[in-house]
Amino acid sequence: MMRRLADMQAEVLDRMPLLAAVETALEGAVGSVLAEDVISPENLPGFQNAAMDGFAVVASDVHRPPVDRDIIDDVPAGSLPSATVTPGTVARIMTGAPIPPGADAIVPVEATDMTSEGRVRILEPATVGDHVRPVGGSVRAGSLVFEAGLRLRPPHVSVMASMGALPMVRRRPIVAVMSTGDELVPPSTKKLEPGAIRDSNRTLLRGLLTELGVEVRDYGIVGDIPGSFESALGDATDGADVVVTSGGVSMGAYDVVKLALRERGTVDFLKIAMQPGKPLGFGTVADVPFFGLPGNPVSVFVSFEQFVRPALLATMGADLLYRDRVPAILDDGITTNPEKDVFVRVTTYRDNDGRWHARSSGGQSSNVLSALAFADALAVVPVGVGRVDPGGTVDLEMIHWPEARTREEALGDR
Ligand code: AMP
Ligand code: MG
Repeated sequence: MMRRLADMQAEVLDRMPLLAAVETALEGAVGSVLAEDVISPENLPGFQNAAMDGFAVVASDVHRPPVDRDIIDDVPAGSLPSATVTPGTVARIMTGAPIPPGADAIVPVEATDMTSEGRVRILEPATVGDHVRPVGGSVRAGSLVFEAGLRLRPPHVSVMASMGALPMVRRRPIVAVMSTGDELVPPSTKKLEPGAIRDSNRTLLRGLLTELGVEVRDYGIVGDIPGSFESALGDATDGADVVVTSGGVSMGAYDVVKLALRERGTVDFLKIAMQPGKPLGFGTVADVPFFGLPGNPVSVFVSFEQFVRPALLATMGADLLYRDRVPAILDDGITTNPEKDVFVRVTTYRDNDGRWHARSSGGQSSNVLSALAFADALAVVPVGVGRVDPGGTVDLEMIHWPEARTREEALGDR
């Protein structure tokens, strides 16, 4: 019996552990997920300061320009004012410097003229608060700044830096990868023996994992001998949070992952109602979550995207797990197996009305890596549809965009 993709995705998420919370340095925090809400310990800015280079004034004193005023102080950023601004006087001030007592607005330098030494002509009127950054105008002390579950991007980390706080995040998973198959040789192999192919899956998986920001441990190529596989797997599970293999999980006589693990009973060998990516091994080995991905390179990618990537984000406590989808017009039409969720490799563009369009990026067999490399999205033809005519509508899963959908948004309330 084939399992529905979304049901299996929900089961995978249910079975993923949540990794421990740790305080992290700001360097390297990008890509980590907040384990706790962030409450600001301070106001940002902490003091009223100038938003422009110019002159600190009493707004009511300069409401009928042009007027000439005495410059009684000079306040660069990082210094403190030494005088109080009163009607008839102004202080020269630079962006980021504290507003002098008495002043309530900044007149930008562009709206002034130097007349004589120590005097300035104000050319434009000011209103109270002009170009003044208020205390707490960016973040209020005690307010909720970020919520647990947020995956940190550089601007989030820079807010943490400005608050002088270190984020509590979830540890990032350590992921062990290996390729299985007697036909596989390292990519560096110049001349292939008959029947041999270069191992491309590990390069793909390592790249996807690195891009996600998790730690990769590479256990190389393992032949189709159950003993060799079991010994490599023993090493891989030691110290890893998740193990990902490719190949050897389908119906072949030498499918080593299946042969080695079927008897243990901790890994299920499933048929998922999806294409590509029908065979999947999922469970635990020595209590470590285990994904046995298919061997075909495009299947590896699609299964990784649908199962492994969201699962790893879940171990990090992320709120958003699945990549964004946008509705699009399929220009060239397609017929698919109506019993499966089918992922079509497509290139995309937007028309003048802003609508997304997609067309096939090349051969759709699961071994055609080039069409995957050319693709910028997967067009999803869901179970029950089976045919999309040219000009029909599909959802595009945007494989180069960051994750944007929660579990509920992607899977409903399963
Ligand atoms: P399998 O599921 O092991 O029967 O593999 C399915 C197909 O994927 C076969 O054509 C394999 O040669 C191919 N394949 C398996 N592993 C890899 C790999 N690491 N790199 C490239 N192709 C692979
Ligand atoms: Mg194989």
